[in-house]
Amino acid sequence: MIPDQILLRLGELTLKGKNRSKFENRALTEVSRVMEAFPKTKITKTFGRVYVELHGEPYEDIADRLKKVIGISSFSPVYAVQSELKAIQQKALEVMQHLKHQPKTFKVTAKRAHKPFPHGSQEMNHLVGGYILHHTEYLKVDVHEPDLELKVEVRKEGTFIFSEIIQGAKGLPVGSSGKAMLMLSGGIDSPVAGYLAMRRGIRIEAVHFHSYPYTSERAKQKVIDLTRKLTCYTREIRLHLVPFTDIQTKLAQGGSDNLLITFMRRAMFRITEKLAHKNEAMAIITGENLGQVASQTMSSISVINKVNTIPVLRPLITMEKAEIIAMSKQIDTYETSILPYEDCCTIFLPKSPATNPSLKVVEKQESWMKWLDEEIEKAVEQTEVISIKEEQPSELDLF
Ligand code: ATP
Ligand code: MG
Repeated sequence: MIPDQILLRLGELTLKGKNRSKFENRALTEVSRVMEAFPKTKITKTFGRVYVELHGEPYEDIADRLKKVIGISSFSPVYAVQSELKAIQQKALEVMQHLKHQPKTFKVTAKRAHKPFPHGSQEMNHLVGGYILHHTEYLKVDVHEPDLELKVEVRKEGTFIFSEIIQGAKGLPVGSSGKAMLMLSGGIDSPVAGYLAMRRGIRIEAVHFHSYPYTSERAKQKVIDLTRKLTCYTREIRLHLVPFTDIQTKLAQGGSDNLLITFMRRAMFRITEKLAHKNEAMAIITGENLGQVASQTMSSISVINKVNTIPVLRPLITMEKAEIIAMSKQIDTYETSILPYEDCCTIFLPKSPATNPSLKVVEKQESWMKWLDEEIEKAVEQTEVISIKEEQPSELDLF
């Protein structure tokens, strides 16, 4: 049975007044973007509700796509019929008979929004519920805790019938919380961190450090592919590719093997902060997760964090690895993330990285690296920017 339209529930329940309509409008912009692939659909707003009229476009494909729209809390397929009792009863029965999961108990909640319609809401509950009971065998009515609630809304232009509620991605629409730079490594964690940040309304630009020729073109393509996966939640993401080879080689030649990761990370964060200022972003997002590796102990994070003046957001910091993996599968980045292409950090990985670096020692040794500031400026200047859009061949247009 093919629905005629889809009812969308937008925004978070806690949002009120002006904020609410602002968020709803942003979410609607996202819905319109996604519906560009289904040109016959029409988005309408009636009685404060938002509907997507299908006009023959495929419901299942559209539903799959809507599940990924940040800002939609849930949606329901809606069946329309003329506002005439017999037609409503028959359609309601048909809807009940075509449910994916057959309930044991149900109730009808009718609403008469069209006063000239001869039956009131309460009466309609009985007329429709009774008709369904009469034409089915195992169903029972339970008005308190039904397995399924069948809603029947009688309007002048027609009656809408719906019951199924499909959960959406929820969250705040992308862009409603400002912009941040996502440090995107090519591993499992950072794309998930990017998704979670977007789900709280943050627009992201990705930053990737590569050590070409130690890291290959394929490693770069992998990060481009991961970024493209994330564009499913927003129209476009800019990817900043930072040449990191010179800094890494110089740091590696410096001798302090066990602090190498700390120096590398501090350089990465300094560069990312500069890129944030250049691109009017307010924060940095990473896929760091407490205690996984040497650079992600509390004391390492604290020493690395000292170089930043803007907030560093770490959405995954307390998550279980299994939860992160499950989420990366859900957002479809997992298969790309596990491709075995080398990362700039793993190439220069020291044998025994410090898990408890001393800020004093780190700052002192850095002060001896007279070349560092200049190299950081150079890396920022030589950063290549690619604009990545959904499902398009990657264009290497330099900014
Ligand atoms: P991931 O799975 O995201 O790679 P991880 O658990 O492997 O994370 P690290 O490799 O130590 O941990 O990286 C921690 C975080 O630092 C990453 O999540 C990412 O935000 C950032 N990062 C690491 N390497 C890079 C890189 N080459 N370019 C950009 N950001 C990076
Ligand atoms: Mg990694």
